[in-house]
Amino acid sequence: MIRIAIDGPGGAGKSSLAKAVAAKLGIIYVDTGALYRTIGLYMLKNGVDPKDAQAVISKLGAFRLELSFTDGKQVILLDGEDVGDSIRTPEISMAASAVSAIPEVRSFLLETQRSMASKNSVIMDGRDIGTVILPNAEVKIFLTASPEARARRRYEELLAKGASVTYESVYSEMAERDKNDSTRAVAPCVPADDAVMLDNSDMTPEQTVDAVLDIIKKKAKKHKKRSGYMIVRAIIRPFTKFFLRIHVHGLENVPAEGPAIICSNHIAIRDVFIIAVSAKRQIRFIAKKELSRVPLLGRIIKALGAVFVDRKGADVGALRSSVELLEQGELISIFPQGHRNPGVDPAKTKIKNGAALIAYRSGADVLPAFINVKKHKYGFFRRVDLYFGELIPNSELGFVNGGKDEYEAAGKKIFSAILALNKQEPRTLEENEN
Ligand code: C5P
Repeated sequence: MIRIAIDGPGGAGKSSLAKAVAAKLGIIYVDTGALYRTIGLYMLKNGVDPKDAQAVISKLGAFRLELSFTDGKQVILLDGEDVGDSIRTPEISMAASAVSAIPEVRSFLLETQRSMASKNSVIMDGRDIGTVILPNAEVKIFLTASPEARARRRYEELLAKGASVTYESVYSEMAERDKNDSTRAVAPCVPADDAVMLDNSDMTPEQTVDAVLDIIKKKAKKHKKRSGYMIVRAIIRPFTKFFLRIHVHGLENVPAEGPAIICSNHIAIRDVFIIAVSAKRQIRFIAKKELSRVPLLGRIIKALGAVFVDRKGADVGALRSSVELLEQGELISIFPQGHRNPGVDPAKTKIKNGAALIAYRSGADVLPAFINVKKHKYGFFRRVDLYFGELIPNSELGFVNGGKDEYEAAGKKIFSAILALNKQEPRTLEENEN
């Protein structure tokens, strides 16, 4: 799966670019601006001033908005009716810009946008794709051009559609929209830290497509190099296998695609490597930022696709990152015990609420896993048994409205599923020591 985020101001040519790239790569193109436009359309149709936040918010539950794809082409149904080109007028552009500054409108559309990217490889264009919607997108491009070039393109586009507009009016509308979009408090149109900047003022559409394909190729290569199992296998595997004889059981229980939360017991740092080298697909770990600075280990964990969170507010950061990764269809691994803990006695084991909370927020299923390490009779080497259990559907975790009691109960359920996988004699504490 690949997720490509294209952000930038209006008229930079994001949509024709994204369409062309989507066709070349055989992936779908999600035009997120169309969603805001549709809400703008609904408000204007129903006599609501798009700038009147309260009035707009009160109408958010009053209509049905569906996003689908027919022959790779995006179709938006508003109360069952295809909005088609009715959302492509200058008036709707302004209405879209106004409603898009309302945080409630943005959160209303968040799920729709993310769910497209969790099921499909996508190229998605908008204003906050790389910063908010898909912060873990493999490729992020911020496409821009001079205001004159953008206004000229929009003007010609509108003329071609038969609209009667002047260049001046298009220019001033664009300038106003730019200002709204880049200065608003929530999700302003700004490049993500890791976005590639591309100014196409002096490029033809074809040249822009080529430049973007080039960026995607390079990024994809880099991404593969950085997080792919090629490197992990090449470096970690022989090393891990030299010291640990890993026996994996129940590998078929690991879903081949889509989100899931691997929850396992946690004995030592090596658990991360054991899980990572055992599964056939990439597993993402949440790690504390300090680890990224540890020589070698930090680089290896990064290569494994770890997401680093700040220690300050680590719990919040880990929660957010985990939920985001899951929403993007990734497989994440966490340790419900929180810290390393060789104990296998449920009565003595404290379980943190984090795993259950992530399951609740993301709606993802949980895959229990159990790691059993036995010291080899020759001392230094170890035998590792890694058991993957059957997936626990999220619906079986007992969530109704969330809350501490529910997380505790779900946490216990997850942990007993982990312990039930222990098919060998429990280890002694000495055996579990690092
Ligand atoms: O891209 P397009 O011109 O169709 O977007 C219409 C308006 O919707 C933009 O001016 C912007 O205010 C808003 N928008 C947004 N976030 C997105 C996409 C569009 O705020 N991801």
